Amino acid sequence: MSEAGPRLRSDSPERTEAIGAEIARDLSPGDVVLVEGDVGAGKTTLIRGACRALGVREPVTSPTFTIGARYAGRVPVSHLDLYRLEELDAEVPGLLDDYLTPDAIAFVEWPAVGADLVAARVRAEIEHAGGDRRSISVICR
Ligand code: ADP
Ligand code: MG
Repeated sequence: MSEAGPRLRSDSPERTEAIGAEIARDLSPGDVVLVEGDVGAGKTTLIRGACRALGVREPVTSPTFTIGARYAGRVPVSHLDLYRLEELDAEVPGLLDDYLTPDAIAFVEWPAVGADLVAARVRAEIEHAGGDRRSISVICR
């Protein structure tokens, strides 16, 4: 993946999962992947594909009543959904510490604003492109 990654086209949830799996191939423990996009864009879907590729077998759904989930894959995998965090307190010290651990690969669903809270190495941005189509950009630094 390059600094300014290409825009990838998806026309199904399965294709978005496959793009997630592709992203997962380049990840190592300690990496944080920021996944941006509107509600329903496919953030959780992309993360599900990445988690499957990392050996996670349990269901990967949107964490609803907590900010995150921790899965056992070939490495520990964290899945955070901070979409509603602005209603909580983004400044609570240590809020993410249990999830962003050096041994884990972490995926963070995040709104388009305030992305600098997390020092992510990889950013995926998903945009609606009509119907089941999505445009996905992946930036890796
Ligand atoms: P988010 O986490 O961004 O809110 P989800 O992954 O939970 O989004 O939901 C995306 C919804 O859009 C799912 O119902 C999925 O089946 C549907 N969908 C349709 N086309 C696509 C696509 N190309 N990629 C991802 N999801 C898609
Ligand atoms: Mg989601």
